[in-house]
Amino acid sequence: MDTITLNDKQFFYTVVHKRVKNMNLRLLTYNSFSISAPHFTTHAHIHRFITQNQLWIFVNSQKIPAHKDLISLQQLSILGEDYSVHIIKSLRDKLTFNHKDRLIIIKSSQLTNSHLKKVIHKYFKIFVFKIIQKELSYFCQKFDVSYSKLSLRAPKTRFGSCSSRGNLSFNWQIIFFPYDKFQHIILHELAHLTHHNHSHKFWELLGDYDPNSAQNKHWIKKEANKFLLF
Ligand SMILES: [Zn+2]
Repeated sequence: MDTITLNDKQFFYTVVHKRVKNMNLRLLTYNSFSISAPHFTTHAHIHRFITQNQLWIFVNSQKIPAHKDLISLQQLSILGEDYSVHIIKSLRDKLTFNHKDRLIIIKSSQLTNSHLKKVIHKYFKIFVFKIIQKELSYFCQKFDVSYSKLSLRAPKTRFGSCSSRGNLSFNWQIIFFPYDKFQHIILHELAHLTHHNHSHKFWELLGDYDPNSAQNKHWIKKEANKFLLF
């Protein structure tokens, strides 16, 4: 297994020499790929091939969630804190958080990806709702703004939204981001309560809310997708 940094992101890759005519690249996970190459292809040749395809690798790897196989899930990061995950087959579905021991126990009646998805979604939504509500009440008081309604959704493209009526909606999976990035997403929508657009005034206000606004925004654009669980 070799490593290479493309576009500031580290990738792992393996080279398999085969009876093939041309080199071929296949993405395996959000940060790994394999290359099949004809026998006797030199290392320099392979390296050049990767570099030529680095934009494609980077862009498409960003579309792959970090954990594809939920059954083998052993660890989850919640707001930057690492939790061990234990998945147990059980008669009834249940998910419990043990925050003291940083442990998540998932009891699932079926050990399949699709069923685990349902169990995780169901219990996490309740947990995430409470956390976002708490953050909102803190920031609303701090910045003297108010919202109408909070809801959680799972849009693929946006992590949060704010309606003209002041209804806020968030992707529940922002809980898997580091805490300051999670807060940035909340603050972005809070700033929309005052400016319902992306005008200069909006960015200025968001900069007041979040002093690390520019870095956080950059991180979200570049890194956030791979923190989504599914
Ligand atoms: Zn916005």
